[in-house]
Amino acid sequence: MKVLKFGGTSVGTVENINNVKNIINDGDKKIVVLSAMSGTTNHLVSIANDIKEKKSNDAIEKINALHETYFKVVDALLTNTFLNAEVKEYITSVFNLLVESTYKSYSIQLENLILAQGELLSTFMVNKFLKQEGVSSTLLPALDFMKIDAEKDPDSEYIKARLNAVLEAAEDVQIYITQGFICLDKDGDISNLQRGGSDYTATIVGAAINAEEVQIWTDIDGMHNNDPRYVENTKPISNLSFDEAAELAYFGAKILHPQTVTPVRKINIPVRLKSTMNPDAYGTLIDGNHSENGVKAIAAKDNIIAIKIKSARMLQAHGFLKKVFEIFEAYQTSIDMITTSEVAVSLTIDDDKNLDKILVELEKIATIEVDKNQTIICLVGHSIVNHEETYRLFKILQDVKIRMISYGGSNNNISLLINSNDKIKTLSKLNDYLFELVTL
Ligand code: ADP
Ligand code: ASP
Ligand code: MG
Repeated sequence: MKVLKFGGTSVGTVENINNVKNIINDGDKKIVVLSAMSGTTNHLVSIANDIKEKKSNDAIEKINALHETYFKVVDALLTNTFLNAEVKEYITSVFNLLVESTYKSYSIQLENLILAQGELLSTFMVNKFLKQEGVSSTLLPALDFMKIDAEKDPDSEYIKARLNAVLEAAEDVQIYITQGFICLDKDGDISNLQRGGSDYTATIVGAAINAEEVQIWTDIDGMHNNDPRYVENTKPISNLSFDEAAELAYFGAKILHPQTVTPVRKINIPVRLKSTMNPDAYGTLIDGNHSENGVKAIAAKDNIIAIKIKSARMLQAHGFLKKVFEIFEAYQTSIDMITTSEVAVSLTIDDDKNLDKILVELEKIATIEVDKNQTIICLVGHSIVNHEETYRLFKILQDVKIRMISYGGSNNNISLLINSNDKIKTLSKLNDYLFELVTL
């Protein structure tokens, strides 16, 4: 069985929902994972923020506007009057719950309950639309099987047991529809897999049922060789290894949630990226094979903080780095890049939740400099550290101020840290000289 995930744009308009119907209605048994309609989760985040800041009038205004939008979509999507009324009744119950939330005081549980409504709405609507169109499908509530543990990692054993039991109980169904993104936490409260998490749901589900393939259907024809939001003339890459895709997803290629590849790489389930609007395009196949060497793609990750830790005592002092790492570990903050010299170590983090506390601890053992507004530019490809192109990098980037370089950590990745203001210039230059074969 295959798992097909459709993102926010794919379920965002009547035309695209029709495309989804045509893609999934091929007679094969499958699990379909849906995101919220595009824009909905952003709205819900903003409503939760208003509640947090006790701006309940603002929240109610946004809730009413979104309610109206959903009614318009339903009118365009569901011409069957019975199904139209049924879906509107469900939508109204969801928006009543949102209005009631504005009377409550903020908690993370309340925020997570609010955020979960987007996927609950889209799956309910699409399932009824399929019914109208004569396509038989069944809703599989994600909260019946998706769960994360205390570390916020998927509880694989629980998911596998629950999901397979639910599937067995509804054995004769051809198309199962479920919610991406949402899950229960270790205490059984509603939670989620972080923004963009529906991709992760798809591969978690794929791993739990040992799927033949996981497909991520979105608004672009595969993983491109550079970030299309900032660079013109980017091109789709037809094949990526799990390692390459994992690096690109982690270092900012928004098409994939950072953890997407994790559940499937060790059991070798291929992941295919496809465009809902252009289903005939090949897209990208991610699997265990490595193809040609050289730089295949570039991604950028923003909101990086660089910390320089300088200590005269670092000179020949074994155990210094251990002390540094222990501080980051104590505050559960992971380090992305690291470079060292005789007297200093520079490293980067992307999570500033505990930054102040970390700095207090670091200042006890060293002098600290902090640079915010940094971006990691990540070049990915098989065996790039040995590739002839790689040596041109310094020349290509001679007028970009590079703060840090990470080379040789793995054969697939070279990372550069630059000021975020230089991001677009750097991405474009690399594109021209590495992919468009502009000569220096
Ligand atoms: P969905 O809602 O379907 O999950 P996303 O917006 O999360 O879609 O991801 C698709 C978007 O990712 C594309 O529209 C594109 O702008 C962006 N993107 C960023 N980097 C890349 C890349 N390297 N290749 C393709 N798309 C990328
Ligand atoms: N709806 C969620 C988000 O916008 C999850 C997803 O789209 O993957 O982050
Ligand atoms: Mg996404």
